[in-house]
Amino acid sequence: MKKSHIRLAMLGAMTAFGFIIAFSAILPAAQQKPVLKVFISVDMEGISGIVHSDQTTSGTAEYAAGRKWMAQDVNAAVEGALEAGATEVVVNDSHGSMRNIDPDDLDPRAILISGSPKPLSMMQGIGASFSACILIGYHAKAGTEDAILDHTISSSVVRAIRVNGFEIPELGLNAAIAGYYGVPVILVSGDTAVCRQAGEILGQDVVTVAVKEAYGRLAAKLVPMGEARRLIKAGVKEALGKLGRAKPFKIAPPCRFELEYHVSAQADMGAMIPGAKRIDARTLAFAADDYIQGFRTLRAMIALAPAR
Ligand SMILES: [Zn+2]
Repeated sequence: MKKSHIRLAMLGAMTAFGFIIAFSAILPAAQQKPVLKVFISVDMEGISGIVHSDQTTSGTAEYAAGRKWMAQDVNAAVEGALEAGATEVVVNDSHGSMRNIDPDDLDPRAILISGSPKPLSMMQGIGASFSACILIGYHAKAGTEDAILDHTISSSVVRAIRVNGFEIPELGLNAAIAGYYGVPVILVSGDTAVCRQAGEILGQDVVTVAVKEAYGRLAAKLVPMGEARRLIKAGVKEALGKLGRAKPFKIAPPCRFELEYHVSAQADMGAMIPGAKRIDARTLAFAADDYIQGFRTLRAMIALAPAR
């Protein structure tokens, strides 16, 4: 190549480089929007309108309504997240078979994770790339008075789960999975009881949206459906607006798990898992250096136990 050609080529390259710099400076704002990924885990017992397991169990006459309400609550959260600047919203169906949300009913701008089993169960799909986690339709821990369909993971198997000495509801067990990846839980929706437990565990900065107030396990005073969804959407926008203050919920290892079953026959089965220590007739304990590993062992111990 002649010298003059080399100079021309260099000039061309420099011009192109300058063009790239100039071009990137005038990129429209939408293309420079920072990534803000939001993860939503959606359970069913705390969904607006739900007061009975007939509304949360497939094969019953009332289930069609329940799953529709579930999609509408989660769509309100999706809409709030997108209006607050979310660039990606992932929704993990987290109840029972985990095939409750009809994909056709979900806001088409969100991505759905459907079906089970999943390694991280209600938190499948979460990871360090997410900025925030939202729990929609959650419920209080087993043994809570005046709470709709209170339970912890399995109504028929689990009486209580304790980690490092504290009894923890599903919202806490799952918040610790998000926290493991550095992601804060910024909003919890459900009845007034789960909202209270969310504040106790995650601190008062977490936004809670109560969509019903229970009179017992199977009856509640409902927030009107449209209003409940407006509250969820507004709550998500508020929570994302103060995201900078949110802190991930972490359970520091070593983690000592205790699983109290309803009956001793269930503990007989769980005790077969290596590392399990029987601390009384119906309670097993085990230690884990890694929270996720401990969570998986816990789930295996629950799955192994026969229903009451
Ligand atoms: Zn559920």
